[in-house]
Amino acid sequence: MSKSNLIHVKSGAGINRKEESGMSPDKKRLCAEVEALAGDLYKVSEFLYNNPEIGYQEFKACEFLCRFMEERGFKSERGTGGVQTAFLARPATRLKRRPCVAFLAEYDALPGVGHGCGHNLIAAASVGASLALSRCMDGLTGTLALVGTPAEEGGGGKILLAEARVFSEMDAAMMCHPGRLNRPGEEMFGRVKFKAEFFGQAAHASVSPDRGINALDAMVAAYNNISMLRQQIRPDARIHGIITHGGDAPNIIPQYTAGLFYVRAATRKYRDEIYQKVEKCMEAAAVATGAGYKIEIGQPTFDPIKRNPPLEAAARANMEALGISLDPDDGRRGSSDIGNLSFFLPAIHPSVAIVDPEVPGHSQVFAEATMSPRGKDALLKAAKFLAMTGYDFLASAELREKVKEAFNQKE
Ligand SMILES: [Zn+2]
Ligand SMILES: [Zn+2]
Repeated sequence: MSKSNLIHVKSGAGINRKEESGMSPDKKRLCAEVEALAGDLYKVSEFLYNNPEIGYQEFKACEFLCRFMEERGFKSERGTGGVQTAFLARPATRLKRRPCVAFLAEYDALPGVGHGCGHNLIAAASVGASLALSRCMDGLTGTLALVGTPAEEGGGGKILLAEARVFSEMDAAMMCHPGRLNRPGEEMFGRVKFKAEFFGQAAHASVSPDRGINALDAMVAAYNNISMLRQQIRPDARIHGIITHGGDAPNIIPQYTAGLFYVRAATRKYRDEIYQKVEKCMEAAAVATGAGYKIEIGQPTFDPIKRNPPLEAAARANMEALGISLDPDDGRRGSSDIGNLSFFLPAIHPSVAIVDPEVPGHSQVFAEATMSPRGKDALLKAAKFLAMTGYDFLASAELREKVKEAFNQKE
């Protein structure tokens, strides 16, 4: 990055926030850099909001973000890891250094509800953290990377990138997801999704039902077996599903039925254990009805997140320094491809609230909240604490050691 591209902001310039008054000069400067970028970061979020693209179709987003970073002293690599809508952007003068902290940018939208998961804010916050930190690296030996990770919503872009060794020269990864609560980290379920099919024998439902084999009965029996199993599993697991094909006509004994199911659990071991039991539910239904069955596991399979307490503690301290009041864990959780990534390198997934707890995610209301004053405030706060946490990681060998130690502990 050439010097002329740098907009160095003096500590505290342009802001007078009492919550930032107790910070070190370095942290104040990071915050001031984010404040100076505010207008640009809102534009990033707005562009993505107005151009929602679903997983692996994020061509506009990818191009916009790469150009945006290139105009600000970064060198970007489009299609990194062989994934067309992924990218890797690094400060041009610090391409390959260690340690390296990665900020993750998600930018995929949802069909029908646009940025109903708020990934426009994730991208903008990581862009802000990357730019701010890149401008405050004078005393640091390492570097940072902004990694564009497509298709979080079911596509598992981070898994493809990790498998393509995109993160092999990086030492920690972080991002911030907008949500209902302020948290430095959260539990996530590992997840297996699969398609179940039953194959029976069609027959006239009135004239010759005895000659038929009812594939719908098999599916209903399987669904009921699963419902009974659900009562006997730990609270840190879920099983849910739908019947996608229940038959063709009421006067034909159904010869073919299909359904989609998810098994989720807080550890990989328990996830796989429950999955084995769900397979037995299917098998038992097939035996009881005489139908044949087939199970097809869908890719990708998500791992639960391997949390990194030292890195989360650093994020927590920075969130508190910004006056973000943290919420307790409410036990509600989903799954994300950052789970798999957290087994490749230390990774954290904090969240900042942009809506009240009763507002559902994956909704139009949630999408609109990303553009609200509260959403914009959360965006700047996220960019700040990510930059600060990235700075802590690069500046402290002791923190890096603790993070590594936690990462090397068994699940
Ligand atoms: Zn989502
Ligand atoms: Zn999301």
